[in-house]
Amino acid sequence: MVSGPPALLELSGIRRHYAGPPGEPEVEVLRGLDLRIHAGEFIAIVGASGSGKSTLMHLLGCLDQASSGTYRFDGQDVALLTANERAQLRSTHFGFVFQAYHLIPTESASENVQVPALYTGLGQAQRTERAMALLGRLGLGDKGNLRPHQLSGGQQQRVSIARALMNGGQILLADEPTGALDSESGKQVMALLHALSQAGRTIVLITHDRALAAQASRVIEIQDGRIVVDSGRPATHAAPAVPALSAAPAGAADRRVGWSDLREAVRTAWRGMRANRTRTALTLLGIVIGVAAVMVMSAIGEGTRRQVMERMGSMGTVNLYLDSKSPDGGGPFGLLTEQDLDAVRALPQIRRAKPVISEYVAVRHGNVSKQVVVVATSAEMPAAHHWPLEKGRYYTGTEDRELAPLAVLGHKARKHYFPDTPDPSGRQLLVGNALFEVIGVMAERGTLTGVQDFDEMVFIPYQSGRARLYQSHVQPQYVTVQALSAAQVPQALAALKGLLLARHGREDFSIVNAAAAIATEAATQRNLSRMLGLIAAVSLVVGGVGIMNVMLMSVKERTREIGIRVATGARQRDILCQFMTEAVLLTLVGGVIGILAGLALCAALLLAGEPLLISVSAMAAAFACAVATGLLFGHMPARTAARLDPVVALAGE
Ligand code: ADP
Ligand code: MG
Repeated sequence: MVSGPPALLELSGIRRHYAGPPGEPEVEVLRGLDLRIHAGEFIAIVGASGSGKSTLMHLLGCLDQASSGTYRFDGQDVALLTANERAQLRSTHFGFVFQAYHLIPTESASENVQVPALYTGLGQAQRTERAMALLGRLGLGDKGNLRPHQLSGGQQQRVSIARALMNGGQILLADEPTGALDSESGKQVMALLHALSQAGRTIVLITHDRALAAQASRVIEIQDGRIVVDSGRPATHAAPAVPALSAAPAGAADRRVGWSDLREAVRTAWRGMRANRTRTALTLLGIVIGVAAVMVMSAIGEGTRRQVMERMGSMGTVNLYLDSKSPDGGGPFGLLTEQDLDAVRALPQIRRAKPVISEYVAVRHGNVSKQVVVVATSAEMPAAHHWPLEKGRYYTGTEDRELAPLAVLGHKARKHYFPDTPDPSGRQLLVGNALFEVIGVMAERGTLTGVQDFDEMVFIPYQSGRARLYQSHVQPQYVTVQALSAAQVPQALAALKGLLLARHGREDFSIVNAAAAIATEAATQRNLSRMLGLIAAVSLVVGGVGIMNVMLMSVKERTREIGIRVATGARQRDILCQFMTEAVLLTLVGGVIGILAGLALCAALLLAGEPLLISVSAMAAAFACAVATGLLFGHMPARTAARLDPVVALAGE
């Protein structure tokens, strides 16, 4: 054991083995290494291909961990550090230079140099300035904006050295840095390493070229995972303490992912989306269809629901419809008498009972003649329908009983017969063959699709209608029976049925419960809405699966980029954040386009007369669904990316 000042890096009894193929023993790559590296040393590690040099370098740079043995960094056992602390150590103390440069192809030279500083939280301006200064020092001052493929091999390797120095790079780990270079570029890179060594950096150069290795101050040879030659530390070599280089401010290992990181992630994500336009467009299409579907479906559902509600309101939830029939077992047709109606009116659960006979009848005034619906009904009609009068008055119960020949016109009926007379009260109307005196005009009610137009009707008192017009009707066509309240409809129904059974002795009548009919329709509507919603949700899920697919592809394609980012100090959560941002950005863009498409579709449907109700909340929900889809389906690929083993990732295609 060499005694002396404490070593900067100290390996003792380091072993590294990998699980072998199934059924075969483990592969031992490093078999008990002892090595002390002091600050400021320039060490060359030589050995045949496959001897374990790269494995050793990954261990030194905390990209990989030993199977056994201890590795101390500046006295600290690295195995005891958390993953984030090791990431921090890499970020602030180590700089990697690889044979294959490992630059991110989509980023410019300057951006590549800046990557390590992204994970220490250095501001954008300082980052750019420092990157340009480093590039300038390495003779690439005018190449900052070029992409790696626009640079020569030697230039790319110098960019990667600049990247290694970005956060300080006290310890440079260079794995065959000249292996892919022509001899001239190789010489330049070696000269650079020498200069950096002179400036006090610790350099570990891995090479299989003994001539290159000889340039280092100490040469270590490994063979089959063991050190076979160590030229030793030159006695004269000064061992400075960890030099205080012009290191960039180091972030804490538990640094939160902040706004600037998010901005950076969005920028990267945006660039990725633009780089793969067709793929992005196709993925977006899935989300766009999903969001638009959610929007249109909810608008349709909401619109039809409202229409049903309106119809419900106009029919009244308190109404029961009573009419006669033959009993189920056969027998004569039932007859609802005036006495029956009076008895019904006397029931405590019932507010009113309104008999109705209505038919198309020729109605004439002067030379205007027209077939209109003439409704013979009781004086309670306006109250029963909450329908006010526009002009004049409605007939009274007394007038009804006294067979008064009076008529009240609907809004449009008045326009037919008395176009120039807003209040035709006192004028005569020939209804069928009988003369009726107009006494009022109903307020305009408006039409509901699929319902008779109330505004075109003429209303006459029930009794005079039966006496003068509907002589053939021995009883009302139906009787609208109103319960006191919607809540009392069931009791009213039971009481009504009981009363008529008692009076008639058999069930020669039928009662239709409007509330029940409406409730059934509302339930049908709800089911329909639910089904529409389900279809929409499914299309969104399909969109989500598309996102997941593209993200997984993206992770696969960018495996090496992930490795590079991790090697330069990215923590798992930085990688996770980056890929989640990409997924969410995709869905955000898809969501916006989807909402626009949805609005356009809704507009088209509205023009076609569909009952739609577009609500802001539905829009917000669709949008939120999209983003949630991104988070949900982006998470798995992002986690896959974050959990990649950096060594494997760097070796990946
Ligand atoms: P060198 O860099 O000296 O050429 P490496 O350190 O890259 O050698 O590899 C040393 C040995 O470890 C090789 O035989 C290689 O096959 C093996 N090895 C490296 N990585 C793995 C792995 N993930 N699984 C199994 N064997 C590996
Ligand atoms: Mg190697």
